[in-house]
Amino acid sequence: MKPAKNLYLNTPQLKAELDRCLNCKNAPCMNACPVNCNPQEFINYAKQQNYAESVKTIMRNNPLGQTCGLICPDKFCMAACTRSRIDFAINIPKVQATILEKHRQESYCDVPAVLNGKKIAVIGAGPAGIAAASELVKAGYKVDLFEADNKIGGALNMIPETRLPHEVLEKDWNFICHKDRAELHLETPKNPEAMLAEGYDGVIVSTGEPHCMELGISGEEHCVSFMDYLKHPEKYQTDGRVAVVGGGNVAADCAFTAHDNGASGVELFVRRRLSDMKITRSEIFDLMDRQVDFTTMTSPEKIEKKNGKLSLFTRKNHFVDGKLRPLENTCIERPGFSLIVKAIGSYADAKTDSDNVIYAGDCKHGGSTVVEAIASGREAAAKLDKILNG
Ligand SMILES: Cc1cc2nc3c(=O)[nH]c(=O)nc-3n(C[C@H](O)[C@H](O)[C@H](O)COP(=O)(O)OP(=O)(O)OC[C@H]3O[C@@H](n4cnc5c(N)ncnc54)[C@H](O)[C@@H]3O)c2cc1C
Ligand code: SF4
Repeated sequence: MKPAKNLYLNTPQLKAELDRCLNCKNAPCMNACPVNCNPQEFINYAKQQNYAESVKTIMRNNPLGQTCGLICPDKFCMAACTRSRIDFAINIPKVQATILEKHRQESYCDVPAVLNGKKIAVIGAGPAGIAAASELVKAGYKVDLFEADNKIGGALNMIPETRLPHEVLEKDWNFICHKDRAELHLETPKNPEAMLAEGYDGVIVSTGEPHCMELGISGEEHCVSFMDYLKHPEKYQTDGRVAVVGGGNVAADCAFTAHDNGASGVELFVRRRLSDMKITRSEIFDLMDRQVDFTTMTSPEKIEKKNGKLSLFTRKNHFVDGKLRPLENTCIERPGFSLIVKAIGSYADAKTDSDNVIYAGDCKHGGSTVVEAIASGREAAAKLDKILNG
């Protein structure tokens, strides 16, 4: 795996970015942030070298401030940044990640002196669960955070270390968690229905999306799902050619991983156009930097195994009245792949809130982004607090 590069700004770069902030009257950057983080405020504190307040401003609304800083897409604060209409947007996430990486010191959690006597179970320690637990602790609850896996972070653990070093998750968690009030139970899967009977006053369920979408084609058993692949890339290491089916940032992470693990070539098969891919510009450049091929407007038809190699049969798509349709008689065989990874999405079974049991994050809203999952966790905590405290 390639080492992570350029994740943070150096000191002159940070100063230059801080100096470009226009201190806009209506803070469009803050309004575009799903957790209402206030870049204007933390930038101003940083300009005055008051990094302690800058750090607090970031972490007040975002318990995974550094994590978000490294992987938040450019469609929120950066898209709204006034500078993008003058020259180019301030790289707010990178500024945020850099301030936390270089200037965060002791932990900080603003909690009431006395507990309110109520106990909440949060099931799932991904971004939504961590955010819910952190909000509930701030509101005076005692929280048990249950995680089936042996580490926190949920789907974030599938992101390659080159984009998100996993120690950053731990740093964020150690900074905001108040260990006397939020107890983490790893390798402890829980059934939401049973928790109220176990004596909890309320339950937040943030269990993510555990199922991978199927391609629905013959020979599908010859390919590997993105979850299996990204959780254990070492099991699928190859120096042959790798095909990745999908066009989002999960597919991009599979392509990065295959390249960095020694694949001789990586090809992304994308159903729609390059411009429709749900990845950031910098991810596109990173893929190009690794010589990943993009085969767009193309869908898989079937997979066959021949002499130890895999053939992917594909057909072209085209738009008819704005709708994507298969283009007849375009099926071709693409032979010689060592590995085919399917990365076309994931899903959870439908969830509905009931008395004192609130769902949050991707298991409720479908696949989203880390910052939206955090916003959802915070909302769930506020909703539960309202139910329990009238
Ligand atoms: C490969 C990949 C790349 C991504 N890249 C980006 C990106 O660049 N930028 C971005 O913003 N977002 C990205 N995302 C999306 C982001 O990771 C998710 O939106 C976010 O993690 C969802 O958070 P969550 O807490 O709802 O669920 P999850 O993160 O899925 O967490 C759910 C947790 O619940 C646990 N759990 C499940 N069932 C139980 C149970 N019964 N008991 C106890 N625990 C249980 C799971 O083990 C898991 O830890 C990416 C996702 C993937 C998969
Ligand atoms: S929108 Fe951009 S320039 Fe304006 S306050 Fe926010 S970060 Fe600064």
